[in-house]
Amino acid sequence: MDLGRGIPRTCDCGAATVVLTSNTARNPRRRFYRCGAISGENHAFKWLDEAHDEEFVVVANKLATMEQDLADIKADLE
Ligand SMILES: [Zn+2]
Repeated sequence: MDLGRGIPRTCDCGAATVVLTSNTARNPRRRFYRCGAISGENHAFKWLDEAHDEEFVVVANKLATMEQDLADIKADLE
């Protein structure tokens, strides 16, 4: 499953994701996104900290694009 970059908002099965907290010895109290319907190999899973690190990059890239678009529009108006 390719969740893409950033926060996974929906699973490929169509269900919204939920945020849960791991209670394993390896990742105690680490939060993660998971398919809200089914926990399994073919359903969404991503660590929340990794998803949020990716989301910062996604949002920064969108902001840069919007800033450039605005500069282009201003230039067209002049
Ligand atoms: Zn799913």
